[in-house]
Amino acid sequence: MSSQQPWFVVGLDNGGNKNNATVVDAAGRFLVDCMVETPSRVLEGPLVAVEALAQSFDAILQRTGIGRGQVRVVGLDTPGPASAEGVISSKGSTNFAHAGWNGYDFRGALEARLRLPVVYNNDGNAAALYAHYACYGSGAARHSSVSAIVGTGLGGGVIEAGRIVKGAAGMAGELGHVHIPMHGLLAEGQPLPECNCGFSGDAESLASLTGIEKNLLPYWLHRFPDHELHRVESISKAAKLVRNYGEKGDPMARKIFEQQAMALGRLFTIAANFTDPSAYFVGGGIVETAPEFRDWFLGIIREHTKLREEQARVARFALVPDLDMAGARGAAVAALESVSAR
Ligand SMILES: [Zn+2]
Repeated sequence: MSSQQPWFVVGLDNGGNKNNATVVDAAGRFLVDCMVETPSRVLEGPLVAVEALAQSFDAILQRTGIGRGQVRVVGLDTPGPASAEGVISSKGSTNFAHAGWNGYDFRGALEARLRLPVVYNNDGNAAALYAHYACYGSGAARHSSVSAIVGTGLGGGVIEAGRIVKGAAGMAGELGHVHIPMHGLLAEGQPLPECNCGFSGDAESLASLTGIEKNLLPYWLHRFPDHELHRVESISKAAKLVRNYGEKGDPMARKIFEQQAMALGRLFTIAANFTDPSAYFVGGGIVETAPEFRDWFLGIIREHTKLREEQARVARFALVPDLDMAGARGAAVAALESVSAR
């Protein structure tokens, strides 16, 4: 391949049900502005899943009219837990329950299948990198940011000088399991919330769907004995409905989201004193809600992020944009960066 020929980077976002693919050119422009999804088949084990990713790769090249020889590098992101090099944790997880995933080198296997270099990141870190680039563009390397993404759990990432902070074992940016002060956050008689990781009182124990189901909703339903959600047959079904109620201004749902926002503010206060980032991004289902609700939620986060005057003057608070594409796009940006670093 001559160096004059235009080259591209493919980003592949591997999820529980779907793969989403994108393409970015050498100047950082995305060639695709929507979701391009294919089945991920991860539950069928790694051999099937690697083949499914290869199909997703071929499909995005066909769609964008790019030849295989013009692809310089591929970015891959998956849910964790995995090492910084994309080896799936031997402990297993929801997506990677099939025994074949145990300690599987997902990145290496895709690299061998595609015969192209593959750069790996977990999905939280990929989305955090995309949020950072979407905000700062060509100035990305002069800024740092923290992203908290509220989903089933609380994921995210830390970006320093435009790069993902990965840590020694690839476990940096696990914001969900940072302990936050509960004093003044919990209501009277509210039990200390517990997280699936075994900690009590960490950020995810409140700011996640799991936190609503396990900790917040059981307590607040007890405080609102006449609430309609008492009639929903299971707590997990009821937990998924809380956001809808919150958007409509339901007082109990607002109490739940107020505590989530306070938790995120306290988490960001820790970040402010730890890495003093230029921006604080919030992602997850909240991004798709009505503007009034979104602004109210972000406002409480801001109010509870205790910054020094000098920090408050420069800090930005924003939502993670294009959330459903952020993984694939972040994976592509990370791979693109790896080319300029070489
Ligand atoms: Zn935890």
